[in-house]
Amino acid sequence: ENSQLSSYLKSMIRSLPDHPIPGVTFRDITTLMDDPTGFARVIDGMAEPFLEQGITKVAAIEARGFMVGGALAYRLGTGFVPVRKKGKLPYKTVSMSYELEYGTDELEIHVDAAQAGDRILLVDDLIATGGTAVAAIQLFRSVGAEIIASSFIIDLVDLGGAEKVRAAGVDVYTLLQY
Ligand code: AMP
Repeated sequence: ENSQLSSYLKSMIRSLPDHPIPGVTFRDITTLMDDPTGFARVIDGMAEPFLEQGITKVAAIEARGFMVGGALAYRLGTGFVPVRKKGKLPYKTVSMSYELEYGTDELEIHVDAAQAGDRILLVDDLIATGGTAVAAIQLFRSVGAEIIASSFIIDLVDLGGAEKVRAAGVDVYTLLQY
């Protein structure tokens, strides 16, 4: 890890104490993505391990994952698949529910968005508990497709999400740790 680069990228992230609820520090990447150097370094850094891995699709989780997913798919020369919250996709979907702190939520992909033989890279802006990422992994498995790795700009290490995703059998790459 290049610590000068990490400090630069971290300096571009806006941290909001007690947002959206007391005790949570929200890591706002909009300030990072608004910085041309920051944006380029994030995409290059996330793409680098996967340049020669035969990735067929980048799948990104709504909505902040889309900010990196499209650029990454272009950089890797792959297709792009949106993973969305329930009710947003126009065609036939498969869905997977997952636990939130209070209640449950549901992720969806189009039934024909991926299939056996695909080598998918899953991306999002940040991994916290890993619940969202694990639900996305299960969603692709339910259509017979394989997520070969996952990549996040930020890992909130103490919440154990990376361990949870690895326990589900998927490699985890993160650029910055808090
Ligand atoms: P989790 O399922 O717990 O890993 O939560 C990950 C999702 O919630 C990602 O899509 C993040 O964008 C969002 N998220 C969770 N915690 C934070 C935080 N502290 N700052 C910004 N986004 C967060």
